[in-house]
Amino acid sequence: HAKKHKLDDQVYDSRIDINTLERLQLINELKSAIQHNELVLFYQPKLDLALGKVTHVEALVRWLHPVSGLIPPDTFIPIAEKTGQMNALTRWVMVEAIAQYHRWKRQDIELAIAINISAENLKDESFCQWVLDIIADQNMPIEALTLEITEDAVVADPATAIKQLSVLRQYGLKLSIDDYGTGYSSLAQLKQLPVDELKIDRSFIQQLMINGDDRTIVNSTLQLAHNLGLTVVAEGIEDKATLSWLKQRGCEMAQGYYLSRPIDADGLSQWLAEFPT
Ligand code: C2E
Ligand code: CA
Ligand code: CA
Ligand code: CA
Repeated sequence: HAKKHKLDDQVYDSRIDINTLERLQLINELKSAIQHNELVLFYQPKLDLALGKVTHVEALVRWLHPVSGLIPPDTFIPIAEKTGQMNALTRWVMVEAIAQYHRWKRQDIELAIAINISAENLKDESFCQWVLDIIADQNMPIEALTLEITEDAVVADPATAIKQLSVLRQYGLKLSIDDYGTGYSSLAQLKQLPVDELKIDRSFIQQLMINGDDRTIVNSTLQLAHNLGLTVVAEGIEDKATLSWLKQRGCEMAQGYYLSRPIDADGLSQWLAEFPT
């Protein structure tokens, strides 16, 4: 027994070592992944419910790891955030998404692009300047770009965030509050945010048809947002009934697996060609 115990401990210990080692390796690999184009963007359509047309797509990053395959963003974004790599990652995403915007444009596909911004980006005093530089360098019509920002990303350092976001919005960039309803921001803080759009978090959407409380929350969020002059996007729509319910209540935009999962750029062009308009 004693022997087995010892063996187990050893196995356990070495597992910790491997995990730490793997983590360190992942950190280093992420650096080279950003530099060597191992990241890929998938795109998920945002449907304009009044027009019945897909007008926007959200860019969602994945890591195409040579050994592990496709790694989801929830696995490596926190690492990028903790190891000072978030600005490099967001720059890469922005440049690549804009390049794709132009590729689609050449195929006569007009799609505005939304990209996700992390708290680390907003803490960087030069954030707003490098965003404007990329937009100018890459020849992007600024009004066709939306930045999705979670409430918590702003709460981390509201003064810096609000200052930079205000400047970007003055230049015509669209700003969206992501995962609305899950953060810790108060209405007073939200009121100070210079935003155009509010994305209701999917945790309020997914059980909409079976949960009356969720319907109450979504109804009043729609009213509140509309009274503040904001466009509302519902994310995480997985069935037709939910989509219809939201459309009936004046929700402007819809996103979710019911329409399409995030797919690569070519997949999206194909999906669009088959989408009933
Ligand atoms: P998010 O911005 O809230 O993105 C929505 C996530 O929900 C995506 O996961 C998407 O695939 C998933 N989703 C969309 N529709 C449905 C649905 O109908 N049902 C369900 N169950 N899920 C749905 P994904 O792509 O794994 O991204 C996870 C998170 O990683 C994103 O959440 C975002 O916070 C972060 N992320 C992704 N790409 C980037 C990026 O380029 N930069 C930054 N800073 N964060 C990113
Ligand atoms: Ca988002
Ligand atoms: Ca979201
Ligand atoms: Ca989220």
